[in-house]
Amino acid sequence: MNNIQEAARPTLERVPGSPPELDEQTLDALAGEIYPGVFRGKPWNEAWQCPEGEFFGLDMQRGDPCPSCGGLLTEAYPLSETRERIVKELARPDAALWLVRRPEGALAGFSWAFSYECPVEFAAEKYKTPEMQAAIVRALGGCGITARFFYLSESGIDPDSGMRGYGMSNDMHTVRLAEAQRLGLPAVQRTSVSGPMYRTSSRFMRQISGPIGAYEQGVQQITVTDEMAGPLDTERRDRALFVWLTSEAETPNSSTNQKSTI
Ligand SMILES: [Zn+2]
Repeated sequence: MNNIQEAARPTLERVPGSPPELDEQTLDALAGEIYPGVFRGKPWNEAWQCPEGEFFGLDMQRGDPCPSCGGLLTEAYPLSETRERIVKELARPDAALWLVRRPEGALAGFSWAFSYECPVEFAAEKYKTPEMQAAIVRALGGCGITARFFYLSESGIDPDSGMRGYGMSNDMHTVRLAEAQRLGLPAVQRTSVSGPMYRTSSRFMRQISGPIGAYEQGVQQITVTDEMAGPLDTERRDRALFVWLTSEAETPNSSTNQKSTI
């Protein structure tokens, strides 16, 4: 990169403290603009929500009737609920938060992580059916993850910020895996095989559940193959689960120069 591009680069900074000491103004920007902005578009399509909790993308509008239940669509991530949800996640054990900022300082993205006490706690919270919960506990146990682990929770860069394409997803993985290493914990991440994090997760971590995605260097599109990395997630068939073990890992810093899609 030349100097002009370097100067235009976003920065990734850790918010000090655990729980992170996030000021009210930044929390409002995160919950009110950046977080909904990340999930509104593809591949998540979570712009609107019906009273039964089904999400809809930008091909629908606020106030449209839900095609399934007929209830009226409202914002998928209203400010107060989203604030509450973020504050709750950041109050969990080992919580750590990083913020992506534009060169002039405006908020552009986020990445956070925290610890689960054990796979059973994780499975009970993140999966609905007893079958899937058992499959996930088994899959994690098969990798030697039976106790506390660091969970790479949500990450994203506002698609309208112009800050994608600078390799920030690599940086987000690097800082969070370094934190897992510092804590002496294995790391776990869940993402969509067609999502922007999949490629980076494949590079840094080992997939243990869900379909394997195929991609070429420099090509945005990911093809979902018939090959499986472990048990299929029957609740969301495009979902992939990744693990990172300190015993298997290279130093997280070794890959920071690679290109990313985010
Ligand atoms: Zn509905």
